[in-house]
Amino acid sequence: MRNDNSPPPPESGSSISTDRPWFTRRSTLVVGVAALAPAALAGWVLTQAFAGSGPDGQARPAPLPASHSALSPGQRDAKPGSTPSESASTSPGAGTSSPAAAPAPAKGPLTGRTVVVDPGHNTGNFKHTDEIDQQVDIGTNRKECDTTGTTTNSGYMEAEFTMDVSKRLRTALEAQGAKVVLTHETGDRAWGPCITERARIGNEAKADAVVSVHADGVSAGNRGFHIILPATVKSGSADTAKIVGPSRELGERIAGNFARATGSAPANYLGSGTGLVVRDDLGGLNLSTQPKVFIECGNMRDAKDAAQLTSPEWRQKAAQGIADGIVGFLGG
Ligand code: ZN
Repeated sequence: MRNDNSPPPPESGSSISTDRPWFTRRSTLVVGVAALAPAALAGWVLTQAFAGSGPDGQARPAPLPASHSALSPGQRDAKPGSTPSESASTSPGAGTSSPAAAPAPAKGPLTGRTVVVDPGHNTGNFKHTDEIDQQVDIGTNRKECDTTGTTTNSGYMEAEFTMDVSKRLRTALEAQGAKVVLTHETGDRAWGPCITERARIGNEAKADAVVSVHADGVSAGNRGFHIILPATVKSGSADTAKIVGPSRELGERIAGNFARATGSAPANYLGSGTGLVVRDDLGGLNLSTQPKVFIECGNMRDAKDAAQLTSPEWRQKAAQGIADGIVGFLGG
């Protein structure tokens, strides 16, 4: 399913909180910027849009789809004295480390930073429904430990997709100098982890950023990506007050870079075209003490989106876009 711990969602995605006032304001800004910005400036607009200058986000325009050619990966958040992504931009093999030896970590803008990457679901969850259905405490309420995730119509599992993108993302981030922790790896466990443990891994790693990778499963015709941001919640062990602001900046950075790297547009079925939604029902966000977002990379049930999600080349672009967003957020 589309999220990590909810019952099957309504096809329209109506469980999403899309009618908050800031979305309306943001939507208006998008229209204005889109109308004024020539195509050649689209990349610049994206970069500026996610500069993170506003204290509460209200003054910043929302993500826009943009031509991939408008801004090369190496340009996106370059700062003097840094060497952003030349060494790791689009080569799948860049930064690949040997599992046998302890390789010298790459030096880069993320040196000294820790990023936790959470591959949504687990391919084994389908065979362990009793285990993943056990209830866990997410602070605000109790929910299932984990869910199976969705599939494309041809049977490509969301959990396969999330693991593949997460590994590519790890490679890209390590090439920038980051320490990367995955919440689970292929074959290392039969099911899960529970959403509570996924959150705890990010917290205990004191991660500078956490990204949970997903793909959505709604009806055909619904297309595009969106980023899920934590709502302000305080109940039981959930208290997101300190992460709501930085998580929004992280999400905006990822949204802009993901759109540029993949050419994908923000979701056409929620988020009012911003590619951003806020939710208060996800344990993985409610229990996080570190800046964290979910990304739904596309709709597995839409044939056009599925064609992208099943493409290794597209998944590499997706991972690079997410990595670029994290580099931007962490000040690379
Ligand atoms: Zn999912």
